Amino acid sequence: MARRRGAALGLFLAGGVALALAVGWFGLRVGLDLLNARAQSDLALAADRLTGQLQRYRDVTVLAAEHPALLSLPVAGSPQADAASAVLERVADGTGSSGMLLMDMSGQVRAGTAHATDYAAEPGARVAFARALQGAMGFAHAVSATDGAPRDRAAPRDFYFAAPVFADTRVIGAVITRLGAAKLESRWRGEAEAVFFTDAAGVVFVSNRDELLDGVQGSEGALRPFLAHGTWHMGGHEVWTISDQPYLPVQALHLKRDLPVVGLAAEILIDAGPVLRTAALQMAMAAALWLSFGAVLFALAQRRRAMAARLQAETRANRLLERRVENRTRDLSLAVERLRREVQERTEAQAALTRAQDDLVQAGKMAALGQMSAGLAHELNQPLMAIGSYAENARTYLDRNDPATAQGNLARITDLARRMGRIIRNLRAFSRQSAEPASPVDLVAVVEAVLELASSRIAQSGVALDWAAPDAPVLVMGGEVRLQQVVMNLCANALDAMEGRADPRLTIRLAEKAGHLRLTVRDTGPGIPDAARMFDPFFSTKEVGRAEGMGLGLSISYSIVTSFGGSIAGANLPGGGAEFTVDLIAAAQAVAA
Ligand code: ADP
Repeated sequence: MARRRGAALGLFLAGGVALALAVGWFGLRVGLDLLNARAQSDLALAADRLTGQLQRYRDVTVLAAEHPALLSLPVAGSPQADAASAVLERVADGTGSSGMLLMDMSGQVRAGTAHATDYAAEPGARVAFARALQGAMGFAHAVSATDGAPRDRAAPRDFYFAAPVFADTRVIGAVITRLGAAKLESRWRGEAEAVFFTDAAGVVFVSNRDELLDGVQGSEGALRPFLAHGTWHMGGHEVWTISDQPYLPVQALHLKRDLPVVGLAAEILIDAGPVLRTAALQMAMAAALWLSFGAVLFALAQRRRAMAARLQAETRANRLLERRVENRTRDLSLAVERLRREVQERTEAQAALTRAQDDLVQAGKMAALGQMSAGLAHELNQPLMAIGSYAENARTYLDRNDPATAQGNLARITDLARRMGRIIRNLRAFSRQSAEPASPVDLVAVVEAVLELASSRIAQSGVALDWAAPDAPVLVMGGEVRLQQVVMNLCANALDAMEGRADPRLTIRLAEKAGHLRLTVRDTGPGIPDAARMFDPFFSTKEVGRAEGMGLGLSISYSIVTSFGGSIAGANLPGGGAEFTVDLIAAAQAVAA
């Protein structure tokens, strides 16, 4: 990532450099083109000016050659020669030339301004003169050597114009005008652009900058000694690098143009500094623009990256959330499935329990029956024995013809048979498996039926029964047979507990209590040994092997009572003995509800 960013930065910087260079190059190119156009016109102007000025002296020379005082070609030293010299002196003064002279064909000076003979021998004058002798206009320029220094700024540089003097059509001599180059230059001082004219040898002959007069065109193309760093080219333009010259530009566009008419080449050095500075500025601006563009781009990229990172984080978070939701959903469906299974198992277990309870109820009843069987046998056997003896007695009384007494005996038999029938009815009812729904049941009748079944056991064990039956029926919600079973269990437990104890007393009460009807069975036994566990199935403190010690009585009673919406509880009495209470819903209340 960092490497990629580094590469991108490098690329960006390279692009910036390339752009700046391209802009700089283009700017320079265009600038130089413009400068070149200006330099061209400046150069043309300077060249025209020089040729114009030279033309004037040429014309003056031609005119002088036609002057009558000169046409006679007077002999040197003669008064005519003096007159001719005066004419030449006047013209030279008027035009600013440094000297004029008249020579004959042999090169003899006939007349002239002061020191005319001295410069007639100068090489330039000779060249121009030779040309004039052929009848044409002679022109030359030359540097006069001064004291052995060939290239000296102070050395006189002169233009020479030679016009033939005609007698009819024959050349008889020539007028030669000498013009100091400095004379021309003096009029050019203070010009902005450095202009100079070089001869065929590359020597600067005339210039508007004194320092350029020291220069000689070197093999590099530029003037020595100004050239410090050389020249460089661009788009066909030549730029000189000049050092240590206060009046010359450091970077100068150089233009050259041949002037065959005057045998010189016009050259110009025009300051390229502004162009270079402009190009540099453009370059800097391009770079700055590129950098700011880069900065904006960078900021945008940064923002995009930040956004992408945020998006990615969000996506990741979403995915995580989705996965979590998925997992949670899976867990939930598993839990739901487990719950459903559990519910099903519980429902099945409940059904099994109900079945088991029903079976238990039945088993409990059978156990109770077993418990009672000895008593019952006795109970049934006694009336049977009595019936036997009453029947025997009745027969004896009938034989003795005492039907009234026999009647009495038969009536006793009937009573006893009825009593037995009642006991058997109760037994059958008790042993019947019953699952009838709760309905109003007279609790008094239930207690009476149980006491009847248990009466022989009560009587046998010498238990005092304390039962005061209410006058009116007490109706509760329940099932007659199952309530009988509950009461029978409680009574049997009480009798069991009191077995072998002094002053056994069984107290049974019926009372209304806070909207319920309460049955209380109290004994004078030892009390409950383990109140916390006595309602558990198969909890018994009674001897193992005894028919009564199954530990089911209370648990069956508990499920019967609660199935009727009631409650059962047992507690020890402060004075000894146990008390069991059964609260049941009053039938009147159930109907009202
Ligand atoms: P079982 O009579 O077969 O033992 P029960 O469920 O009827 O089973 O009684 C459980 C136990 O509760 C008895 O073994 C006894 O310890 C205790 N119990 C019940 N009734 C009394 C009572 N009236 N007095 C003392 N203990 C009692």
